[in-house]
Amino acid sequence: MPTPTQEDYLKAIWTLIQTKGYARVSDIADRLGIRHASVSRMVRRLHAEGLTTYEPYRGLNLTPAGRRRGRALVERQRVLRAWLVALGLGPGPELDRTVEGIEHHFGPQALRGVERLVAYIGHHEAWWRQFRDAAGGEGTGPDAPAPETEREGELDPPRSQGTEAELP
Ligand code: CA
Repeated sequence: MPTPTQEDYLKAIWTLIQTKGYARVSDIADRLGIRHASVSRMVRRLHAEGLTTYEPYRGLNLTPAGRRRGRALVERQRVLRAWLVALGLGPGPELDRTVEGIEHHFGPQALRGVERLVAYIGHHEAWWRQFRDAAGGEGTGPDAPAPETEREGELDPPRSQGTEAELP
């Protein structure tokens, strides 16, 4: 079973390969904000587990197993992010931090449940808005209603996309 850190490496490598075709140690280090030495250590582990290959002059690539795993991890992150956005977390550091933290604890069954809920919400937006209004949810998402009360100073202002949110 990959450790949380290992999963983050795999996600980073998978994403780099999607955009560049390969992943260099320096690219991985930049993406994860860590030192090259740490990357090299983890890369050896991934290699030992048959998830990566090394191509001279290019960098790391993923084996078919590594690719499957990487895609599943990125997809899991996407689903959990959509769920948290539906719950009212706006784009920003809190959303990123939360997703990065919780993702490692969601197994296939829990994820399928969240996925079904997210899909249902997508098809029943009026229902979901009604629930959030009734529950008194204080959404900060891009489509959340403008807050009626003064926000605490330490909260990031919602970064709206396209809509004009009135900030206190
Ligand atoms: Ca993470």
